[in-house]
Amino acid sequence: MNVIEEMIPVVEHLKRAGYIKNEKVIQALLKVPREEFLPEELKKYAYIDTPLSIGYGQTISAIHIIGMMCEALDLKEGQKVLEVGTGSGYHAAVVAEIVGKDGLVVTIERIPQLAERARKTLKRLGYDNVIVVCGDGTLGYPPLSPYDRIYVTAAGPKIPKPLIDQLKDRGKLVAPVGKDIQELILLEKRGNKIFKKKLGQVAFVPLIGEEGWKEY
Ligand code: SAM
Repeated sequence: MNVIEEMIPVVEHLKRAGYIKNEKVIQALLKVPREEFLPEELKKYAYIDTPLSIGYGQTISAIHIIGMMCEALDLKEGQKVLEVGTGSGYHAAVVAEIVGKDGLVVTIERIPQLAERARKTLKRLGYDNVIVVCGDGTLGYPPLSPYDRIYVTAAGPKIPKPLIDQLKDRGKLVAPVGKDIQELILLEKRGNKIFKKKLGQVAFVPLIGEEGWKEY
């Protein structure tokens, strides 16, 4: 496997800090070239564990956040995953590496220019197991539901109900909830029961849409 040399110390740090331990997550982070998802002038910061601007007031998430969300989702090969908030497409590429060619990542972005740019980047890098949709992800994406896993990369006032409805039985969902102080929540669906666990405080851009913030 081709390993990105610059990512090795970042991954080692995330392992030591307890953010990641799943070998599939580690291999995916070592494989996806983060600089390809960044504007030219920010490529030199690609292997620093920090969020970076991708234009339109939005950001690519920090590397530890992506690792932490992938771990919490307990992703498996062959799964169908819904991402709300494509942004640059980097997080979707990491998940696409984990679910593999038999899996599928459906990712929704509300800003058309970001959706189009991510679609082009993912295509250029050969991620044909990712479908980029432009629209309001708080409503999920019913045509390809139900999903094994769902994750949201922007913080809303609550976990949108359409997302819970589009999650398979025994499925898992990770989403940040809150405004000034946000909690990353892991939700598990078992039959008609919903279990929630707090994973810690985070800082995401706002989730704007019908089941999110109306405006910010
Ligand atoms: N996962 C991304 C990456 O790897 O670059 C980072 C995403 S960024 C933190 C959050 C994204 O969510 C932004 O691009 C924003 O436009 C998008 N967003 C906010 N509300 C949304 C909604 N209702 N539906 C879809 N995307 C939304």
